[in-house]
Amino acid sequence: MNIYQPHLLRIEDVVEETADTRTLRLSFIDPAVAAGFDFKAGQFGEYSVFGAGECTFCIASAPTRKGYIECSFKSVGKVTQEMRRLEVGDTMGFRGPYGNYFPIDEMAGRDLVFIAGGIGLAPVRCVIWNALDRRQEFGDITIIYGARSVADLVYKRELEEWRLRGDANVHLCVDPGGETPEWKHAVCFVPSLVEEVAPAPRNAYAIVCGPPIMINFTLPLLA
Ligand SMILES: Cc1cc2nc3c(=O)[nH]c(=O)nc-3n(C[C@H](O)[C@H](O)[C@H](O)COP(=O)(O)OP(=O)(O)OC[C@H]3O[C@@H](n4cnc5c(N)ncnc54)[C@H](O)[C@@H]3O)c2cc1C
Repeated sequence: MNIYQPHLLRIEDVVEETADTRTLRLSFIDPAVAAGFDFKAGQFGEYSVFGAGECTFCIASAPTRKGYIECSFKSVGKVTQEMRRLEVGDTMGFRGPYGNYFPIDEMAGRDLVFIAGGIGLAPVRCVIWNALDRRQEFGDITIIYGARSVADLVYKRELEEWRLRGDANVHLCVDPGGETPEWKHAVCFVPSLVEEVAPAPRNAYAIVCGPPIMINFTLPLLA
């Protein structure tokens, strides 16, 4: 098969995460491709819109959830703006999976700490669901997530689901000035919340994804 030939996907669902970020649920149209497709948490794909082009997004759904893949993307340019116009039932192209992945099997028996900022939760979400779907294999699971404002938080329904399920510690924050009167969580930058939560580094794996400044201030706190 030609490696440049995309598989065809049908858009099954669209979630508007924020004013400029969307999540698409996509299923392979060819049943043979659907049956044979597999990937590992952390890998990415090349998603194409006919007549517009192709761009790279991580696979935001977990490999434990079969029958579909999801991507979350921010509209920044030519292809992503075209993707924003697509609707349920429309067809897209996909090549992949490509790239490295998280060593989820190696993480078994350890505590897991997920730290993300903004759209950085998209690649981390895949590993979070992967770990939650295999919950008994891991120790404590801590999720620390923040965004500039309440309106910029992605996966709001899932954040609430993770908070309520009782087997993960979920800590949320928005930047000062980004809170609303209803916001019940922290108002600070992500590294300050990491410092406050102080996840135990012993016997733990930490996965951090977000803007470089967030990562720079977060990594020393995990040592
Ligand atoms: C491994 C990997 C994983 C990724 N995962 C994700 C993900 O999960 N979600 C996500 O949202 N993004 C992700 N990205 C980023 C994503 O691939 C890009 O945002 C996307 O390809 C942009 O495509 P586009 O055609 O819409 O933008 P483009 O049209 O290519 O524009 C991209 C940027 O360049 C600027 N630009 C375009 N043309 C010009 C010009 N002539 N002069 C100056 N500036 C210009 C645009 O304003 C915009 O800011 C990932 C990237 C990589 C490498």
